[in-house]
Parts: sequence; C-alpha cells; structure tokens
Amino acid sequence: MSVWAVLAAAGRGERLGSDRPKAFARLGGRPLLAESLERLENSDWIERIVIAAPPDWEEPSILVAEEIAATKVNSAVTGGASRSESVRLALEDVADDAAVILVHDAARPLLPEEVVERVLAPLSEGWEAVVPALPLADTVKRVEADRVIETVPREDLVVVQTPQAFLADVLRRAVTGDVASATDCASLVEAQGGRVRWVDGDPRLLKVTDADDLALVESWLAEE
Ligand code: C5P
Repeated sequence: MSVWAVLAAAGRGERLGSDRPKAFARLGGRPLLAESLERLENSDWIERIVIAAPPDWEEPSILVAEEIAATKVNSAVTGGASRSESVRLALEDVADDAAVILVHDAARPLLPEEVVERVLAPLSEGWEAVVPALPLADTVKRVEADRVIETVPREDLVVVQTPQAFLADVLRRAVTGDVASATDCASLVEAQGGRVRWVDGDPRLLKVTDADDLALVESWLAEE
C-alpha cells in the first residue's frame, strides 16, 4: 500500500499575531512546520510527502525539509485561498500510483505515530476515509448572536482532528468543484455519500490557533 502525505501548511495564521505564516512561527527553536514534517518523515507508513506552502514560502519550506534531513519530501507547492484548495493543489503533485493519501495540518505539530496507524487501518476494511476524533467534554449550545437557542445533545457529537486518511481516488474525486467552504477533506467525501469512519484522536493533536495554543504545545513538546 503506497501512502503519500499532504501537509497543509499554507494558512496565514493571522490569529497568532506574528509577521510570518503560522507554519513558520517558532516551536521548540525551529519553525512549527518542522515538527509535523519530521514526524511524517519518521513514520513507517509514509512513503512521500507534498507540502502546501504559503505563497512565497515554497523555498523556505524546502529549506526546513533540508534542515531536518528529510528524504521523503517530493515538493512544496503553492497553497490556495482555503485549506481544501491547498489540498487540491498539493494532490497534483501526488503520484498517480499512490493508493492512500494522508492529509495533515501543519498547525497540529504533535503527531503521534499511533494515530497515523489508527486512521490507516480501517481503509483495508472497506472504509473510504478515516478521521481521528474526540468526544465533547463540555455542554454544547446552539446560539444566535448573544442569545442561547438550545442545548444540543452531545452524545452523538465528536470534534475532528487530522491526520485524515483517504483512498486516493476517493479524495481526488471529493476535491473537485467548489471546495472553498469545506473545513476538512472528510466533509467533502461525506457530501458525496462516501463511507467515512472515525477512530480515537489524541489531545496532543491540538490545533495551534493563537499564542496560548503555541505555548501549550511547546510545554507538551518539552515533556516528551
Ligand atoms: O486556518 P486553520 O488553522 O484552520 O488551518 C488548518 C490548516 O490548514 C493549517 O495547517 C493551515 O496551514 C492549512 N491551510 C492551508 N491553506 C489555506 C488555509 C489553511 O494549507 N489557505
């Protein structure tokens, strides 16, 4: 089974308040991108990696790959206006014979190898896409502006992370058309009636959005 990874790193990361894209914010003394890239590089399951880089940050992305002596990085393509568009553009560089594609957010630097294994396994059992997810700990309410409308039963709700694993042809079909509003790739497969499974995610896969998230991930990294 040939598994390629797409690393979505093209976000601007404005909420981090940095002068550079989020993938190049500093984490543990190096660019945030280096952490997830190194973990994909070291994964026994991943054959090749395509990075979706912010415009004008393609070369620096390749430099990050060189600094960690990565041998699996195929290319760094220019990302698009939305995450799903960045993934679509990266797929153009994924080999036609790739059977499975793993899509991961560079904004989730602490990628455990167990989660890679958990999302890949169900693809050989008839599932077309697999997402890591966590149950909701808090009470969930639907709101309209300031007003609370109702409390939503949370038993059948989960929050979804990356890496997400896909049969390659299913992902390629899913990202055609207007994908701008999709916040993850699995939702595009769901919209086409695809068989999507969830498996246990991991709290360490927190998405870095603001400076507090970055500090928290930094502290977890120091404990590893
Ligand atoms: O913006 P957000 O943090 O939700 O983005 C999730 C992931 O998608 C990040 O790793 C970000 O770099 C990536 N992304 C992208 N292209 C975009 C927007 C976001 O690759 N246009």
